[in-house]
Amino acid sequence: MIIVMRANVDSHDADAVKNKIANLGLEVYESKGLNYHIIGIIGDTSNVDDESFKTMKGVEKVIHVQEPYKRASRLFHPENSIIPVNETSIGGEKLAIIAGPCSVESKSQITEIAVEVKEAGAGFLRGGAFKPRTSPYSFQGLKEEGLEYLKYAKEISKLPIVVELMSADKLEMYEREVDIIQIGARNMQNFDLLRAVGQTRKPILLKRGLSATIEEFLTAAEYILAGGNENVILCERGIRTFETYTRNTLDISVIPVIKRLSHLPVIVDPSHASGIWWMVEPLAMAAIAVGADGLMIEVHNDPKNALCDGNQSITPENFRHLMNSIKEIAQIRKRKL
Ligand code: PEP
Ligand code: MN
Repeated sequence: MIIVMRANVDSHDADAVKNKIANLGLEVYESKGLNYHIIGIIGDTSNVDDESFKTMKGVEKVIHVQEPYKRASRLFHPENSIIPVNETSIGGEKLAIIAGPCSVESKSQITEIAVEVKEAGAGFLRGGAFKPRTSPYSFQGLKEEGLEYLKYAKEISKLPIVVELMSADKLEMYEREVDIIQIGARNMQNFDLLRAVGQTRKPILLKRGLSATIEEFLTAAEYILAGGNENVILCERGIRTFETYTRNTLDISVIPVIKRLSHLPVIVDPSHASGIWWMVEPLAMAAIAVGADGLMIEVHNDPKNALCDGNQSITPENFRHLMNSIKEIAQIRKRKL
């Protein structure tokens, strides 16, 4: 439930509303902007009497929120959220371009790629250290050693690093070593892991589950927000459909839908969505055209011999081409690269 206060309402009147909510044993979520002042109620509001709020001083209207997500909802937070990451941010005018290999394979591999993608205009470096592979016999990542190499590549390239966290027991290490913690598609509904990353204040890149609906996706984000971590970035990475030509199907329509329903930034990963390297650039263009806040692109200096996801990885040269192709589209969308 949302209590919309009149803009510039007297703080005593707002306090009276907040106290009333607290006295009902419910949680207050407040958001204020230049032209709005919203007091959200979080918890079971089925027995809350609308009229008792509507008649309070300074209250403009009372809105019922049907969706199971609240903090993630644009109704609770009308302005776009901008997520700070070190000296930069995600969700503002500047597009967030995250690039790098599926997995860290060696110190020279990740460092070379980091330098190349930085030169081409990427703002963040990705690289898997602990990999969620479908088969237990596939390469599982260099683990701690991979993190060390990523830190070295960060030092050289000055790019913040994005790394997937698979289990909560590594969270402390990730809080120290990593700039953005990625929660992978397979863990989108690992609620213990979501709760754990809700306790940190590190930015979390939450990837959409393989078969997750938009509501399930936003409700997964709600778990993180409910823990007090407001730094959530969503990532569409393709969903399971009947189509087998592509690895997944990029759900391009999710971008305008999320922009309507939520204030959280949303980026697109055309690499995992398609599974095919030559589709990455056109899908990246489509993503920016439709309003995505950024991209996650798998780049490898030797895709044919990559230990993971070589088919969908583009070379640094093709990444430069992609960056050039999205330039004009970014301009049309009034976004900076
Ligand atoms: C990845 O980004 O390396 C990855 C495994 O992606 P997803 O969780 O989307 O499959
Ligand atoms: Mn991958």
